[in-house]
Amino acid sequence: MSEAEARPTNFIRQIIDEDLASGKHNSICTRFPPEPNGYLHIGHAKSICLNFGIAQDYQGRCNLRFDDTNPAKEDIEFVDSIKHDVEWLGFKWSGNVRYSSDYFDQLFNYALELINKGLAYVDELTPEQIREYRGSLTAPGKNSPYRDRSIEENLALFEKMRSGEFAEGTACLRAKIDMASPFIVMRDPVIYRIKFAEHHQTGNKWCIYPMYDFTHCISDALEGITHSLCTLEFQDNRRLYDWVLDNITIPAHPRQYEFSRLNLEYAIMSKRKLNQLVTEKVVEGWDDPRMPTISGLRRRGYTAASIREFCKRIGVTKQDNTVEMASLESCIRDDLNENAPRAMAVLDPVKVIIENFPQGEVEMVTMPNHPNKPEMGSRQVPFSREIYIDRADFREEANKQYKRLVLGKEVRLRNAYVIKAERVEKDEAGNITTLHCSYDPDTLSKDPADGRKVKGVIHWVSAEHALPVEIRLYDRLFSVPNPGSAEDFLATINPESLVIKQGFVEPGLKNAEKGKAYQFEREGYFCLDSRYASAEKLVFNRTVGLRDTWAKMGE
Ligand code: ATP
Ligand code: MG
Repeated sequence: MSEAEARPTNFIRQIIDEDLASGKHNSICTRFPPEPNGYLHIGHAKSICLNFGIAQDYQGRCNLRFDDTNPAKEDIEFVDSIKHDVEWLGFKWSGNVRYSSDYFDQLFNYALELINKGLAYVDELTPEQIREYRGSLTAPGKNSPYRDRSIEENLALFEKMRSGEFAEGTACLRAKIDMASPFIVMRDPVIYRIKFAEHHQTGNKWCIYPMYDFTHCISDALEGITHSLCTLEFQDNRRLYDWVLDNITIPAHPRQYEFSRLNLEYAIMSKRKLNQLVTEKVVEGWDDPRMPTISGLRRRGYTAASIREFCKRIGVTKQDNTVEMASLESCIRDDLNENAPRAMAVLDPVKVIIENFPQGEVEMVTMPNHPNKPEMGSRQVPFSREIYIDRADFREEANKQYKRLVLGKEVRLRNAYVIKAERVEKDEAGNITTLHCSYDPDTLSKDPADGRKVKGVIHWVSAEHALPVEIRLYDRLFSVPNPGSAEDFLATINPESLVIKQGFVEPGLKNAEKGKAYQFEREGYFCLDSRYASAEKLVFNRTVGLRDTWAKMGE
């Protein structure tokens, strides 16, 4: 990885430093445990950078483990996309990909161990009754009438569950802990339930599946994870994590530490809601460039380095907070400002005829590929009598603040000549169709000889040589900062989140490379769209604008 700067520090790394110093551990093992029920998003990137980053910096290991205990919602498509995204972010997991389902046999045996110790029982309350018996934050729960069955009876019933003799929802295995515990997760949590669903890894071998809280701690211990890092909503579950490991025969006892989730303004991180956007076709798919998914950001033009940098900047704490979209954008802008070659594109074209420029003549003008990086070289761009400029770069009248082309006044064409607007041609509706200009032949990349000051600079493309292009401009997907808390988040979709323009780009972009970013001068950073661009058609996505427009767009 290129960014070999100082290591980040955070409370988790301090704990690791202490554990190494005290000799509690001599090597560190973390894991990233996604549930394959959706594509990864920028919140997952935070967890990935934390877990894999620690393994890298401490010469430890980080496992990729699919937490696949709910076959009904999972899919191999998600498994594949998650592997790809982790690799694309620049990380390598230790050994083979792991699955919680690899441990189904062991998990079953640990469940038997709990039953044999009188610490688990088969309950036949209905799911509704279980909820009712659980109590609330203010009221204790009450014991199930099935709680005191004998070990033999429990073993026989659990075997009946496994062999498919119970219907879904008619029996489950529960840990026997404490129905009056102030921690609701400790009120005899369900650890196995019946599900007649085919599993993407184990097929039809099982019709009972272990629950997350039972599976996760045991999987961690079996893999020799030292520090099991998860988000704050699992704080209470840590008690159950420890209870399970304390009550079974297993040599390791990893420690769980919680950190705050990433929340991003104007975005949604819930996989259930992201899935809804996809299935209801509000967006094109998980990789829609407006999605906060890794695949969406990649298609939008974000680099892996910019996402890693973002995760570094936001840090890891226990404080809940919401990060501004502007801070994500500034990471990609900083990256591309350094690395993206410049090019010219006119997004909203109006034709300009330079009347004193010789008909049929083409002059090649030299343009640097980066204003501050001569090592990035230069290119030749054709200039001719007819060009396009952006409609917004011309006004018939304007005050001094407007530093572009005004009727009767001059402006510089970037890396070319000074032109003067002489007259406008309009259609019947009053729209400008053509601008007639003159140029000063003695101003190619130099100031006018008589000392006239020409302040403004605008971009342009030669009409005859320019290539037609479709430009996709993206804005925030939601029109409120916290769509997740809206009663109906779909009602907060920003109708302007995608605007498509038909413009022109300089001819050199015929060979634009997929996956490469360009700065279109004065417009922003763009990349070819991986879905729509083809040999016949140039389609560019705007990754981000040149400046932060969020501040003034807010409120
Ligand atoms: P959801 O609640 O939307 O289903 P999840 O947290 O269940 O998401 P997982 O696939 O279980 O998604 O997440 C894998 C790992 O990524 C977990 O360790 C989880 O804590 C972490 N993670 C998920 N979302 C975020 C987030 N917004 N910020 C930081 N870490 C996250
Ligand atoms: Mg989860």
